[in-house]
Amino acid sequence: MQRRTFGSTGRQVAVVGQGTWNLEKGDRRAAVEALCAGLDAGMDHVDTAEMYGDGAVEELVGEAIAGRRDEVFLVSKVLPENASRRGTVAACERSLARLGTDRLDCYLLHWAGSHPLRDTVAAFEELRAAGKILAWGVSNFDEEELAEAVAPGGPGPGPANLACDQVLYHLKERAVEHAVLPFCAEHGIAPVFYSPFGSGDFPKPSSRGGHVLAEIAGRHGATPHQVALAFLLRHPGSFAIPKAARPEHARENAAAGDLQLSEEELRRLGEAFPRGPRRPGVPVL
Ligand code: NAP
Repeated sequence: MQRRTFGSTGRQVAVVGQGTWNLEKGDRRAAVEALCAGLDAGMDHVDTAEMYGDGAVEELVGEAIAGRRDEVFLVSKVLPENASRRGTVAACERSLARLGTDRLDCYLLHWAGSHPLRDTVAAFEELRAAGKILAWGVSNFDEEELAEAVAPGGPGPGPANLACDQVLYHLKERAVEHAVLPFCAEHGIAPVFYSPFGSGDFPKPSSRGGHVLAEIAGRHGATPHQVALAFLLRHPGSFAIPKAARPEHARENAAAGDLQLSEEELRRLGEAFPRGPRRPGVPVL
């Protein structure tokens, strides 16, 4: 499993991590097993949020990481409506209790809301000083929101403390390539790709793109899903967090962390899945 420095944190984190959205909806034992299989296979980055199952997913993650907390790069998110100065601190305490841990490795603002960003960041810094979070970041921020977040005299104490921007990115949705990814690269912010398989809308084998994926996968003895992850992870300093409720999916995703595509293969995939317009509208989930 390839590992990279996670933005400004200096931590080495697996390029393929584990999403947890909707994990409470299926068989609980299988979901816990899938997370454990993912950890066994080196996917240390586990992404969750207070929003997921109204806290039920954080409890499930707590069960999966019990006894192995130190192996995990644990990320959770505060809902925008809770992201006031006091509300952020209280939300973090609730997440820590549900997760059964005393710290998060990174704590994110799930998307920009009505509370001033400077209040949320002040709370993040308070939590950091108290050792309850080791780093903080944002999610669903476009390039303008990022620029505001890192501006001198802006809400944060400087860009160095904004570790990541977790954004929607998959083969059929490449809008972040226009400006968000270049901004992240310039400022040392780790882009973390959510819904890397299109959240259930993966290219059909019968489609043109599906044929290209299958052919490239065949050459590598890999699967189309693994090729998709390798395509996204071609961006230096980036990470992806596919969700897998089945242990076999988790193991397959982990193995993608070592797959290297040639320039020619990357070019063909880029053509089969064109980049599209700059701002298709940012879904907030
Ligand atoms: P996703 O990871 O794009 O897709 C998940 C689907 O792909 C599931 O149906 C899963 O099946 C399937 N799958 C996983 N590995 C597979 C494999 N190797 N082969 C075939 N199918 C496979 O969807 P997502 O849950 O939307 O996104 C991933 C994570 O990103 C979320 O769980 C969440 O942590 C995060 N996220 C963040 C935001 C945000 O606003 N910040 C928004 C959305 C998502 P099984 O479950 O049956 O294994």
